[in-house]
Amino acid sequence: MKSEIASIADVTCSVIKALDIFYVLKGAKEAARVFASPGMQELVKSNGLFYETSDFKVMLRNDASRCFSDSGVRNMEKGESVLYIARSGEKALEAKEAEDRNDNNKLGEILGYPECCRSFFSENIEKSKSSDLTVQSWKNSSSFYAGINTSMRCFDACLISHFPCSFGCEDSRLIADRNKKVIGASDATLLNSIEAALKGIVIYSEGIGVYKIRKYVAGNGIIEYTPEDIEPSCINDFYSLLKKGRIVILGRNRFLIGGVEVNDAHTFMAEFL
Ligand SMILES: [Zn+2]
Repeated sequence: MKSEIASIADVTCSVIKALDIFYVLKGAKEAARVFASPGMQELVKSNGLFYETSDFKVMLRNDASRCFSDSGVRNMEKGESVLYIARSGEKALEAKEAEDRNDNNKLGEILGYPECCRSFFSENIEKSKSSDLTVQSWKNSSSFYAGINTSMRCFDACLISHFPCSFGCEDSRLIADRNKKVIGASDATLLNSIEAALKGIVIYSEGIGVYKIRKYVAGNGIIEYTPEDIEPSCINDFYSLLKKGRIVILGRNRFLIGGVEVNDAHTFMAEFL
């Protein structure tokens, strides 16, 4: 029999979006902010939840390197509306009003994001060219907890709904662990597949692609693997280099990949455990 999450995902066409709604449904969080897709309003109502719809729309921009959209241009006519979904009409309205007055901190609080991560978002979103703060999260990180890995969103795998202030953020970790319990109680198979997707080595190169290495041997600053163990978001020259099966770590974001030096502030490699 299909799990509740899988039934929601049939409508949202995305596991990440389905989980956000599911967390609200199960009382794990007070409200969720998701881009509307056909049938979502009916789904929310039939599950006894409430929603408000944004007055603005967002023309989503597809990042071809990830086949993923997480930013876009706001306007009043074209694109996707934002739905604020909550367990009460008042809470949904509160979320909508917080976004209308650009109060990121209040909106983040309603959506259940930790205070440290709300400050991180406010500090970084203005200077970032996109809504993707994954590289900024990495810059603050010295440990890498797979449960709060946001770099696999383009593979439809994520356990939290915000960018963590670092990949070691304790408060985000608590949220991920709580969400794991909520998912596991409904669909243990799905939880296993998400956890497997979030673990391992990720090479995240903004505008180039996201590459996951599932199995590898690492030691003395050298990582070796077979091409079959790479999961790419995008097939390009960078992927051809990665397929050579050897990465030498020269510095925090300096590597030899397939013998070619990569030294780029917007590219990182991390092993999520
Ligand atoms: Zn944090």
